[in-house]
Amino acid sequence: MSDSLLITHATLITLGASCRVLNDQDIYIEDGLIREIAASVNRKADQKLDASGKIVLPGFINAHMHCYSTFARGLTKTEPASSFLPVLKNLWWRLDKALSLEDCYYSALVVLLEAIRHGTTTLIDHHASPCAIRGSLDAIARAFRETGLRGCLCYEVSDRDGARATQEGLEENRDFILACKERNDPFIKALFGLHASFTLTDVTLKAAARLGSGLGTGFHIHVAESIADQEYTRAQYGKGVVERLYEQGILVPGSIAAHAVQVDEKEMALLAQSGAAVVHNPQSNLNNAVGIADIVAMQKHGILVGLGTDAMTTRMSEEVRAAIWCQHFLHNNPSVGFDAAVSALLLHNAKIARRIFAAPLGEIAVDAAADLIFVDYDPATPLHQENWMGQIVFGVSQATVDTTIVAGRVLMRDKKLLLDLDEREVYLRARERVAALWERL
Ligand SMILES: [Zn+2]
Repeated sequence: MSDSLLITHATLITLGASCRVLNDQDIYIEDGLIREIAASVNRKADQKLDASGKIVLPGFINAHMHCYSTFARGLTKTEPASSFLPVLKNLWWRLDKALSLEDCYYSALVVLLEAIRHGTTTLIDHHASPCAIRGSLDAIARAFRETGLRGCLCYEVSDRDGARATQEGLEENRDFILACKERNDPFIKALFGLHASFTLTDVTLKAAARLGSGLGTGFHIHVAESIADQEYTRAQYGKGVVERLYEQGILVPGSIAAHAVQVDEKEMALLAQSGAAVVHNPQSNLNNAVGIADIVAMQKHGILVGLGTDAMTTRMSEEVRAAIWCQHFLHNNPSVGFDAAVSALLLHNAKIARRIFAAPLGEIAVDAAADLIFVDYDPATPLHQENWMGQIVFGVSQATVDTTIVAGRVLMRDKKLLLDLDEREVYLRARERVAALWERL
């Protein structure tokens, strides 16, 4: 790793609260932070990269991910599902039970190599492996350390697999959060993970709330992803999902409520009041036919709405396009939702990540974290201050990421990974593991 890095001749889209487009700039990086941005930086650096002909952006952030889902790609041994619950029961809850600790590690490794290739530098993961709970977050953290990306991890506690799995899930979160606090590693952080209202009893929610608040940590939980979560929660507890989780102390500032597809205006107001962020995952919602979250209405309520992929892809520039089309369709108006979707990815994900990492992520500015990507995009139309969002959605998203840098460390250059890992070997081992895992299903 170089201590200092000089990037020259970059066209910057800085993002941040007052995004700027700057041509032919040099960026000087030292100890993981951007120290100087100027037309010409006159400093010596350990490493120099020419960014001529590239667009330089902050690395993308994926605010809701399940690395283990990698191992479902191409799986055919599942019964067809006609609604959301059978999707969980026929596929995900069979797959997660078959995962070993080594599977957790390899599934994460594969995803993270792809994330580097697609310019995603921070991922907020939500993990389940009910037959290999203890140590699973360390296994995933090992994959993050070996790839150099930033990760926020959690174990999704659920009562669906019995009392022992519940207890182990609570302990795995507690111990991993404590270890993160002790190590104070700027790359690996934790939230307290919970599956969803409909698989969690009040006893378990209370235990999680007590542990999480004692540790000063927010929660990462699926909220009203499908109508089934609302129906079960109302029938069982006489209130909606948001109200229940709010009253139990799960929706607090720093928490992530993934999905929030099936929430009404009253619940949106409560989400806003709670201080929790909502993370929208449009491709997953369409794939599971659970509906489209109204992120325009949520943002009007003052909710911080970010964007995740729920493991559908590591390519955030693909997910943001789906988010835009979904809002157009939902509101039956091609002028509604563009800003809401683009700001979810490019502004709000940075705010969500900053809460967790306590680092200046998601912006090119002096003293910001040097998490940067170079994209092979030489615009055929003018790129300027007023149209950078459209250039990213319709142009940059279609181009290849050339270089990925995290905290000043170059992880990929000229589309070649610069890691102490043999990529082909990783894929070979992953395929072997997946074949054995599918046999166990
Ligand atoms: Zn999810």
